[in-house]
Amino acid sequence: MNHTAISSNRKMKGIAAAPGLAEGPSLRWHKENLHFERLSGKDPQQERQRIDQAVTRVQKDLSALRDKMRVENHADEAAVFDAHILMLEDPSLMKYIDGLLKKTINAEAAWMDGIQFFAEQLAALPDDTLQARSIDIIDAGSRVLSALLGVEKDHLFIISEPCVIIAQDLTPSETASLDKSKVLAFCIAEGGPTSHTAILARAYGIPAVVGLGESVLSLPDGTQMLVDGTSGQIIANPDQWTIQSFTQRKNMEEKKGAIEYQLAQEPAATRDGISVEVVANVSNSGEAESAIFYGAEGIGLFRTEFLFLKRQYEPSEEEQLQAYRQVLDVMEKRPVVVRTIDVGGDKDIPYLNLGKEDNPFLGWRAVRMCLERPEFFKVQLRALWRASQGHDLRIMFPMIATLEEVRKAKALLMEAHREVVQARHKVAEKIQVGIMVETPSAAIMADRFVREVNFFSIGTNDLTQYTLAADRDNPKVAHLGDPCHPAVLRQIKMVIDSGHAAGIWVGVCGEMASDPDAIPVLLGLGLDEFSMAPSAIPHAKYILRQWSTSQARQLAEQVLDLDSAASVRQRVRDFHVE
Ligand code: PEP
Ligand code: MG
Repeated sequence: MNHTAISSNRKMKGIAAAPGLAEGPSLRWHKENLHFERLSGKDPQQERQRIDQAVTRVQKDLSALRDKMRVENHADEAAVFDAHILMLEDPSLMKYIDGLLKKTINAEAAWMDGIQFFAEQLAALPDDTLQARSIDIIDAGSRVLSALLGVEKDHLFIISEPCVIIAQDLTPSETASLDKSKVLAFCIAEGGPTSHTAILARAYGIPAVVGLGESVLSLPDGTQMLVDGTSGQIIANPDQWTIQSFTQRKNMEEKKGAIEYQLAQEPAATRDGISVEVVANVSNSGEAESAIFYGAEGIGLFRTEFLFLKRQYEPSEEEQLQAYRQVLDVMEKRPVVVRTIDVGGDKDIPYLNLGKEDNPFLGWRAVRMCLERPEFFKVQLRALWRASQGHDLRIMFPMIATLEEVRKAKALLMEAHREVVQARHKVAEKIQVGIMVETPSAAIMADRFVREVNFFSIGTNDLTQYTLAADRDNPKVAHLGDPCHPAVLRQIKMVIDSGHAAGIWVGVCGEMASDPDAIPVLLGLGLDEFSMAPSAIPHAKYILRQWSTSQARQLAEQVLDLDSAASVRQRVRDFHVE
């Protein structure tokens, strides 16, 4: 560790991504780098020896991981590691690789050619389970390749002490796989405030700053850090006075949070007595429990794609059913809006073989992929129907851009209903079906979409990126992607007005719903439901209670006419002062 290399109190400014203050030592997360060269003229015996050593080392690591999973009661994951250990010593694989080594190529090339060959053979089999094994063999094989190259593989990343994670960027599945009990904060060089890593950090209640730039990566492990996820500032190697004032502020914030928490279970009634629905965004039953803890009146967005991440195969209908039931059981009779799988964009799931795209956020994402894979999609829809029995489960389709898409999705939902009823499963008599309004096309055509659905939930994260043409993951354009921009607010108004004219409710489940500046504006526009990370609920309820609906309406009218997001935010703050 080299603390002398960094000056004292080194400040860096990034983008505030998940609120809160944290202090602790830094730890750099390294991504794997598995490039290798093809070499010839190598001694087959020596190269075989290198492979054997790498395989033994990986098998040892995998056994340790398997034992850890067993201790933590993750029997499924433990079984996967067991299968990987066996695969690595498959005699036919080794025989094939020996054949390649005879051509005097290097161990890395022979090993990966062998793995690729066996993966392709498996992928071509008619049996789905065997096909899925091809992903396992690539996963286990790439661990051996990392050992051959001397690169630490990311999923062997172990956090032993509570620390501030520093990374170039993190994918949602990498973030999900970290031991959150030891992560004090995230400091990310890339990313935008509504990237899914930021959203996950908020869901875990972990402060995060993104878009810090490359310089953050030069901090040596163990550097003392102060992270302010609310303002987006971090301080490396702080002096004693800075630590003292930061700790004071942290204590005050904690006290303020405790006061807001005391009223969290009460409804969010405005000054004129109108109750506004405040619900939670979750991706599993643990988060649903935390939603109840923080006073959620239901779930406004259950991101089901997280069930599909961190696995080797897609979850079966039964597995999905269990996962949905777990969340519904926690929520009892409260409404639960389940969003069908939204993959693509920044969420890749390797075993779904979605293919590489130049513009994934404009590509084969969410319902677009599901409609072209109806058998895959119907597994989820059947599981949802079965889970609906005895609960207020609502279904919502993401990334809808055209009326045809919503009609096709509803037709598949009805097909799934017929199949489930034919198989004699019990289902709820009626469920509400809605769409996420997150493309400008859906927002502009909201008056047509109302005929197809029971509700709208506005996905302001995507609606903002598509409206302002500003990639939500790119820190260089993060200043453009502000949901308080009048171009976004005007669309929200159109959606709410169209929804209300047709008698359907309208919510917001993007991060904007918990943005303190945006809350009074959304209230004034007549929003019915605010859906957000569980830990954000007490503060959002606190803000809603400060306003009367007539004041908020007045504010909303004013800001729609302004020129920029900055002037909207300023207007909200001035209005407070007045
Ligand atoms: C959104 O786009 O606002 C949204 C809630 O969906 P996601 O962030 O998962 O894309
Ligand atoms: Mg979205």
